[in-house]
Amino acid sequence: MNLSRLAGLPVIAGAGLAGLSVALHYDGPCVLLSPGPLGQDAASALAQGGIAAALDPQDSPARHAADTLAAGAGLCDPQTVHHMTQDGPAAIQRLLDWGVAFDRRPDGTLDLHLEAAHAHPRIAHAHDRSGAAIMRALIDRVRATPRIVVLEGATLRGLDAPDGRLRGVWLRHDGLNHFLPTTACAIASGGTGALYAAATSPGGNRGLGLAAAARAGVELADMEFVQFHPTSLDTAAIGRRPLISEAVRGAGATLIDETGARFTDELAPRDVVSRAVAAHQHAGHRVFLDARTALGPHFGTHFPGIDAACRAAGIDPSREPIPVRPAVHYHMGGIATDPHGRSSIDGLWACGEAACTGLHGANRLASNSLLEAFLTGRDVARDWSGHRFAPVDATDHAMPTGPAPDHTARDIGVWMSAEAGILRDAPGLSRLLDRLTPWVATDDHALVGALIARAALLRRESRGSHHRTDFPDPATAPLRRRITLSHVMPQPLERVG
Ligand SMILES: Cc1cc2nc3c(=O)[nH]c(=O)nc-3n(C[C@H](O)[C@H](O)[C@H](O)COP(=O)(O)OP(=O)(O)OC[C@H]3O[C@@H](n4cnc5c(N)ncnc54)[C@H](O)[C@@H]3O)c2cc1C
Repeated sequence: MNLSRLAGLPVIAGAGLAGLSVALHYDGPCVLLSPGPLGQDAASALAQGGIAAALDPQDSPARHAADTLAAGAGLCDPQTVHHMTQDGPAAIQRLLDWGVAFDRRPDGTLDLHLEAAHAHPRIAHAHDRSGAAIMRALIDRVRATPRIVVLEGATLRGLDAPDGRLRGVWLRHDGLNHFLPTTACAIASGGTGALYAAATSPGGNRGLGLAAAARAGVELADMEFVQFHPTSLDTAAIGRRPLISEAVRGAGATLIDETGARFTDELAPRDVVSRAVAAHQHAGHRVFLDARTALGPHFGTHFPGIDAACRAAGIDPSREPIPVRPAVHYHMGGIATDPHGRSSIDGLWACGEAACTGLHGANRLASNSLLEAFLTGRDVARDWSGHRFAPVDATDHAMPTGPAPDHTARDIGVWMSAEAGILRDAPGLSRLLDRLTPWVATDDHALVGALIARAALLRRESRGSHHRTDFPDPATAPLRRRITLSHVMPQPLERVG
């Protein structure tokens, strides 16, 4: 396909909730890149619980903000938290206006769920398939909007920004490399979970947008903060594992081991439960979530999506305990952005899980990320709408290439899970860096893994989702850290292309 007719248009790399939100809120023509069919391989489509906002008359954005700040363990940006929680109710209203069918009570008001660490019921949801319902409505709207050029089968591979100003993007489309001149790109490529051996995230969440940004010299922040979910379905496979939502524990299901004994408080914060499950497994136990008494034959009615995932793995959750284990679930770190979604280089924005806005700090409050994806996408679009994009130099530049690595993405997943997992220490993180550093110049997976490992090594404390067995306490002064390519390059990067 000849993409030259698209030269100069702003580009959105990623079509999860954040990318769709940019495209729909922007008022001009733009290009939306999606590696597969729209919505496929996006974490947004897998979200079960729902989206948080202070919608109940007894609730308030200030209370939502207080819960968010508490979860973030001292590292949230209070201004960002205020902005997002304040705009939460308007975001839900817009989603309703755009056709999202959130569940309602018999009196017609929204049915709001209570989730762990929220002081008030404030989660708008659509059964346990909330993300799919949101994505369906927004994808229909994107397809009905002719100014949005959707390139399915297109992946961002690199950014050309030689003097700190974007002049184009490299992408792969239908098996061919292309250079698309543009002075505006929004990275909306989602999280990094698929870099690990066990994650609830889809395969599309490999941090490729972060790698492209880092190679262009962009600053990233909070990269060490990776959230683990304590209860993913424990299948033998490596890669994506179905999530067994916290709501199942909220409904009374208990965590037991192979002897039937309980060993932790199921309703403790997510990172505490994850560490308890990991420690119990490390001690040689198997861990199960037992919903037989609490839900029994009603399991499928309350949790149809989870029921289907269990049954697909040969487990009937109404009659047998569900084998579970912790898995990577969310990345708080990403491309450091300002309140407009601008990164540290001119012409590059970021939104959604790929961005680090400061909303989550050291730990994400459940159901805040869909809200962040939608609102940060909106904020980028607002910023674009006020911009006049400069004319572009349409010269075709060659994409940098390098030797193929001698490891596979699967190898990296095993190393990341072993050394940069729930429990970390300096020897393990150093071993990981020794393995990855030789490849950061040419392998995007190695680069993003090394950025996580370096940031984790630099943070000599335990805070939120980041737990160092050699530094088990929080430091007295909370510090947010920005990191760049130079922190992980063995020597200065030679500019190519
Ligand atoms: C199982 C699960 C359940 C969850 N439940 C909830 C919940 O209930 N509530 C909540 O708030 N949050 C939840 N989350 C987190 C939330 O879903 C995500 O944080 C959010 O959807 C991220 O949206 P996004 O648009 O930034 O990324 P995504 O939805 O992941 O979309 C990113 C897209 O970019 C594409 N992409 C990747 N690299 C490139 C590239 N180089 N070029 C072009 N495209 C690229 C990917 O293929 C993907 O389609 C859940 C996450 C998971 C995994």
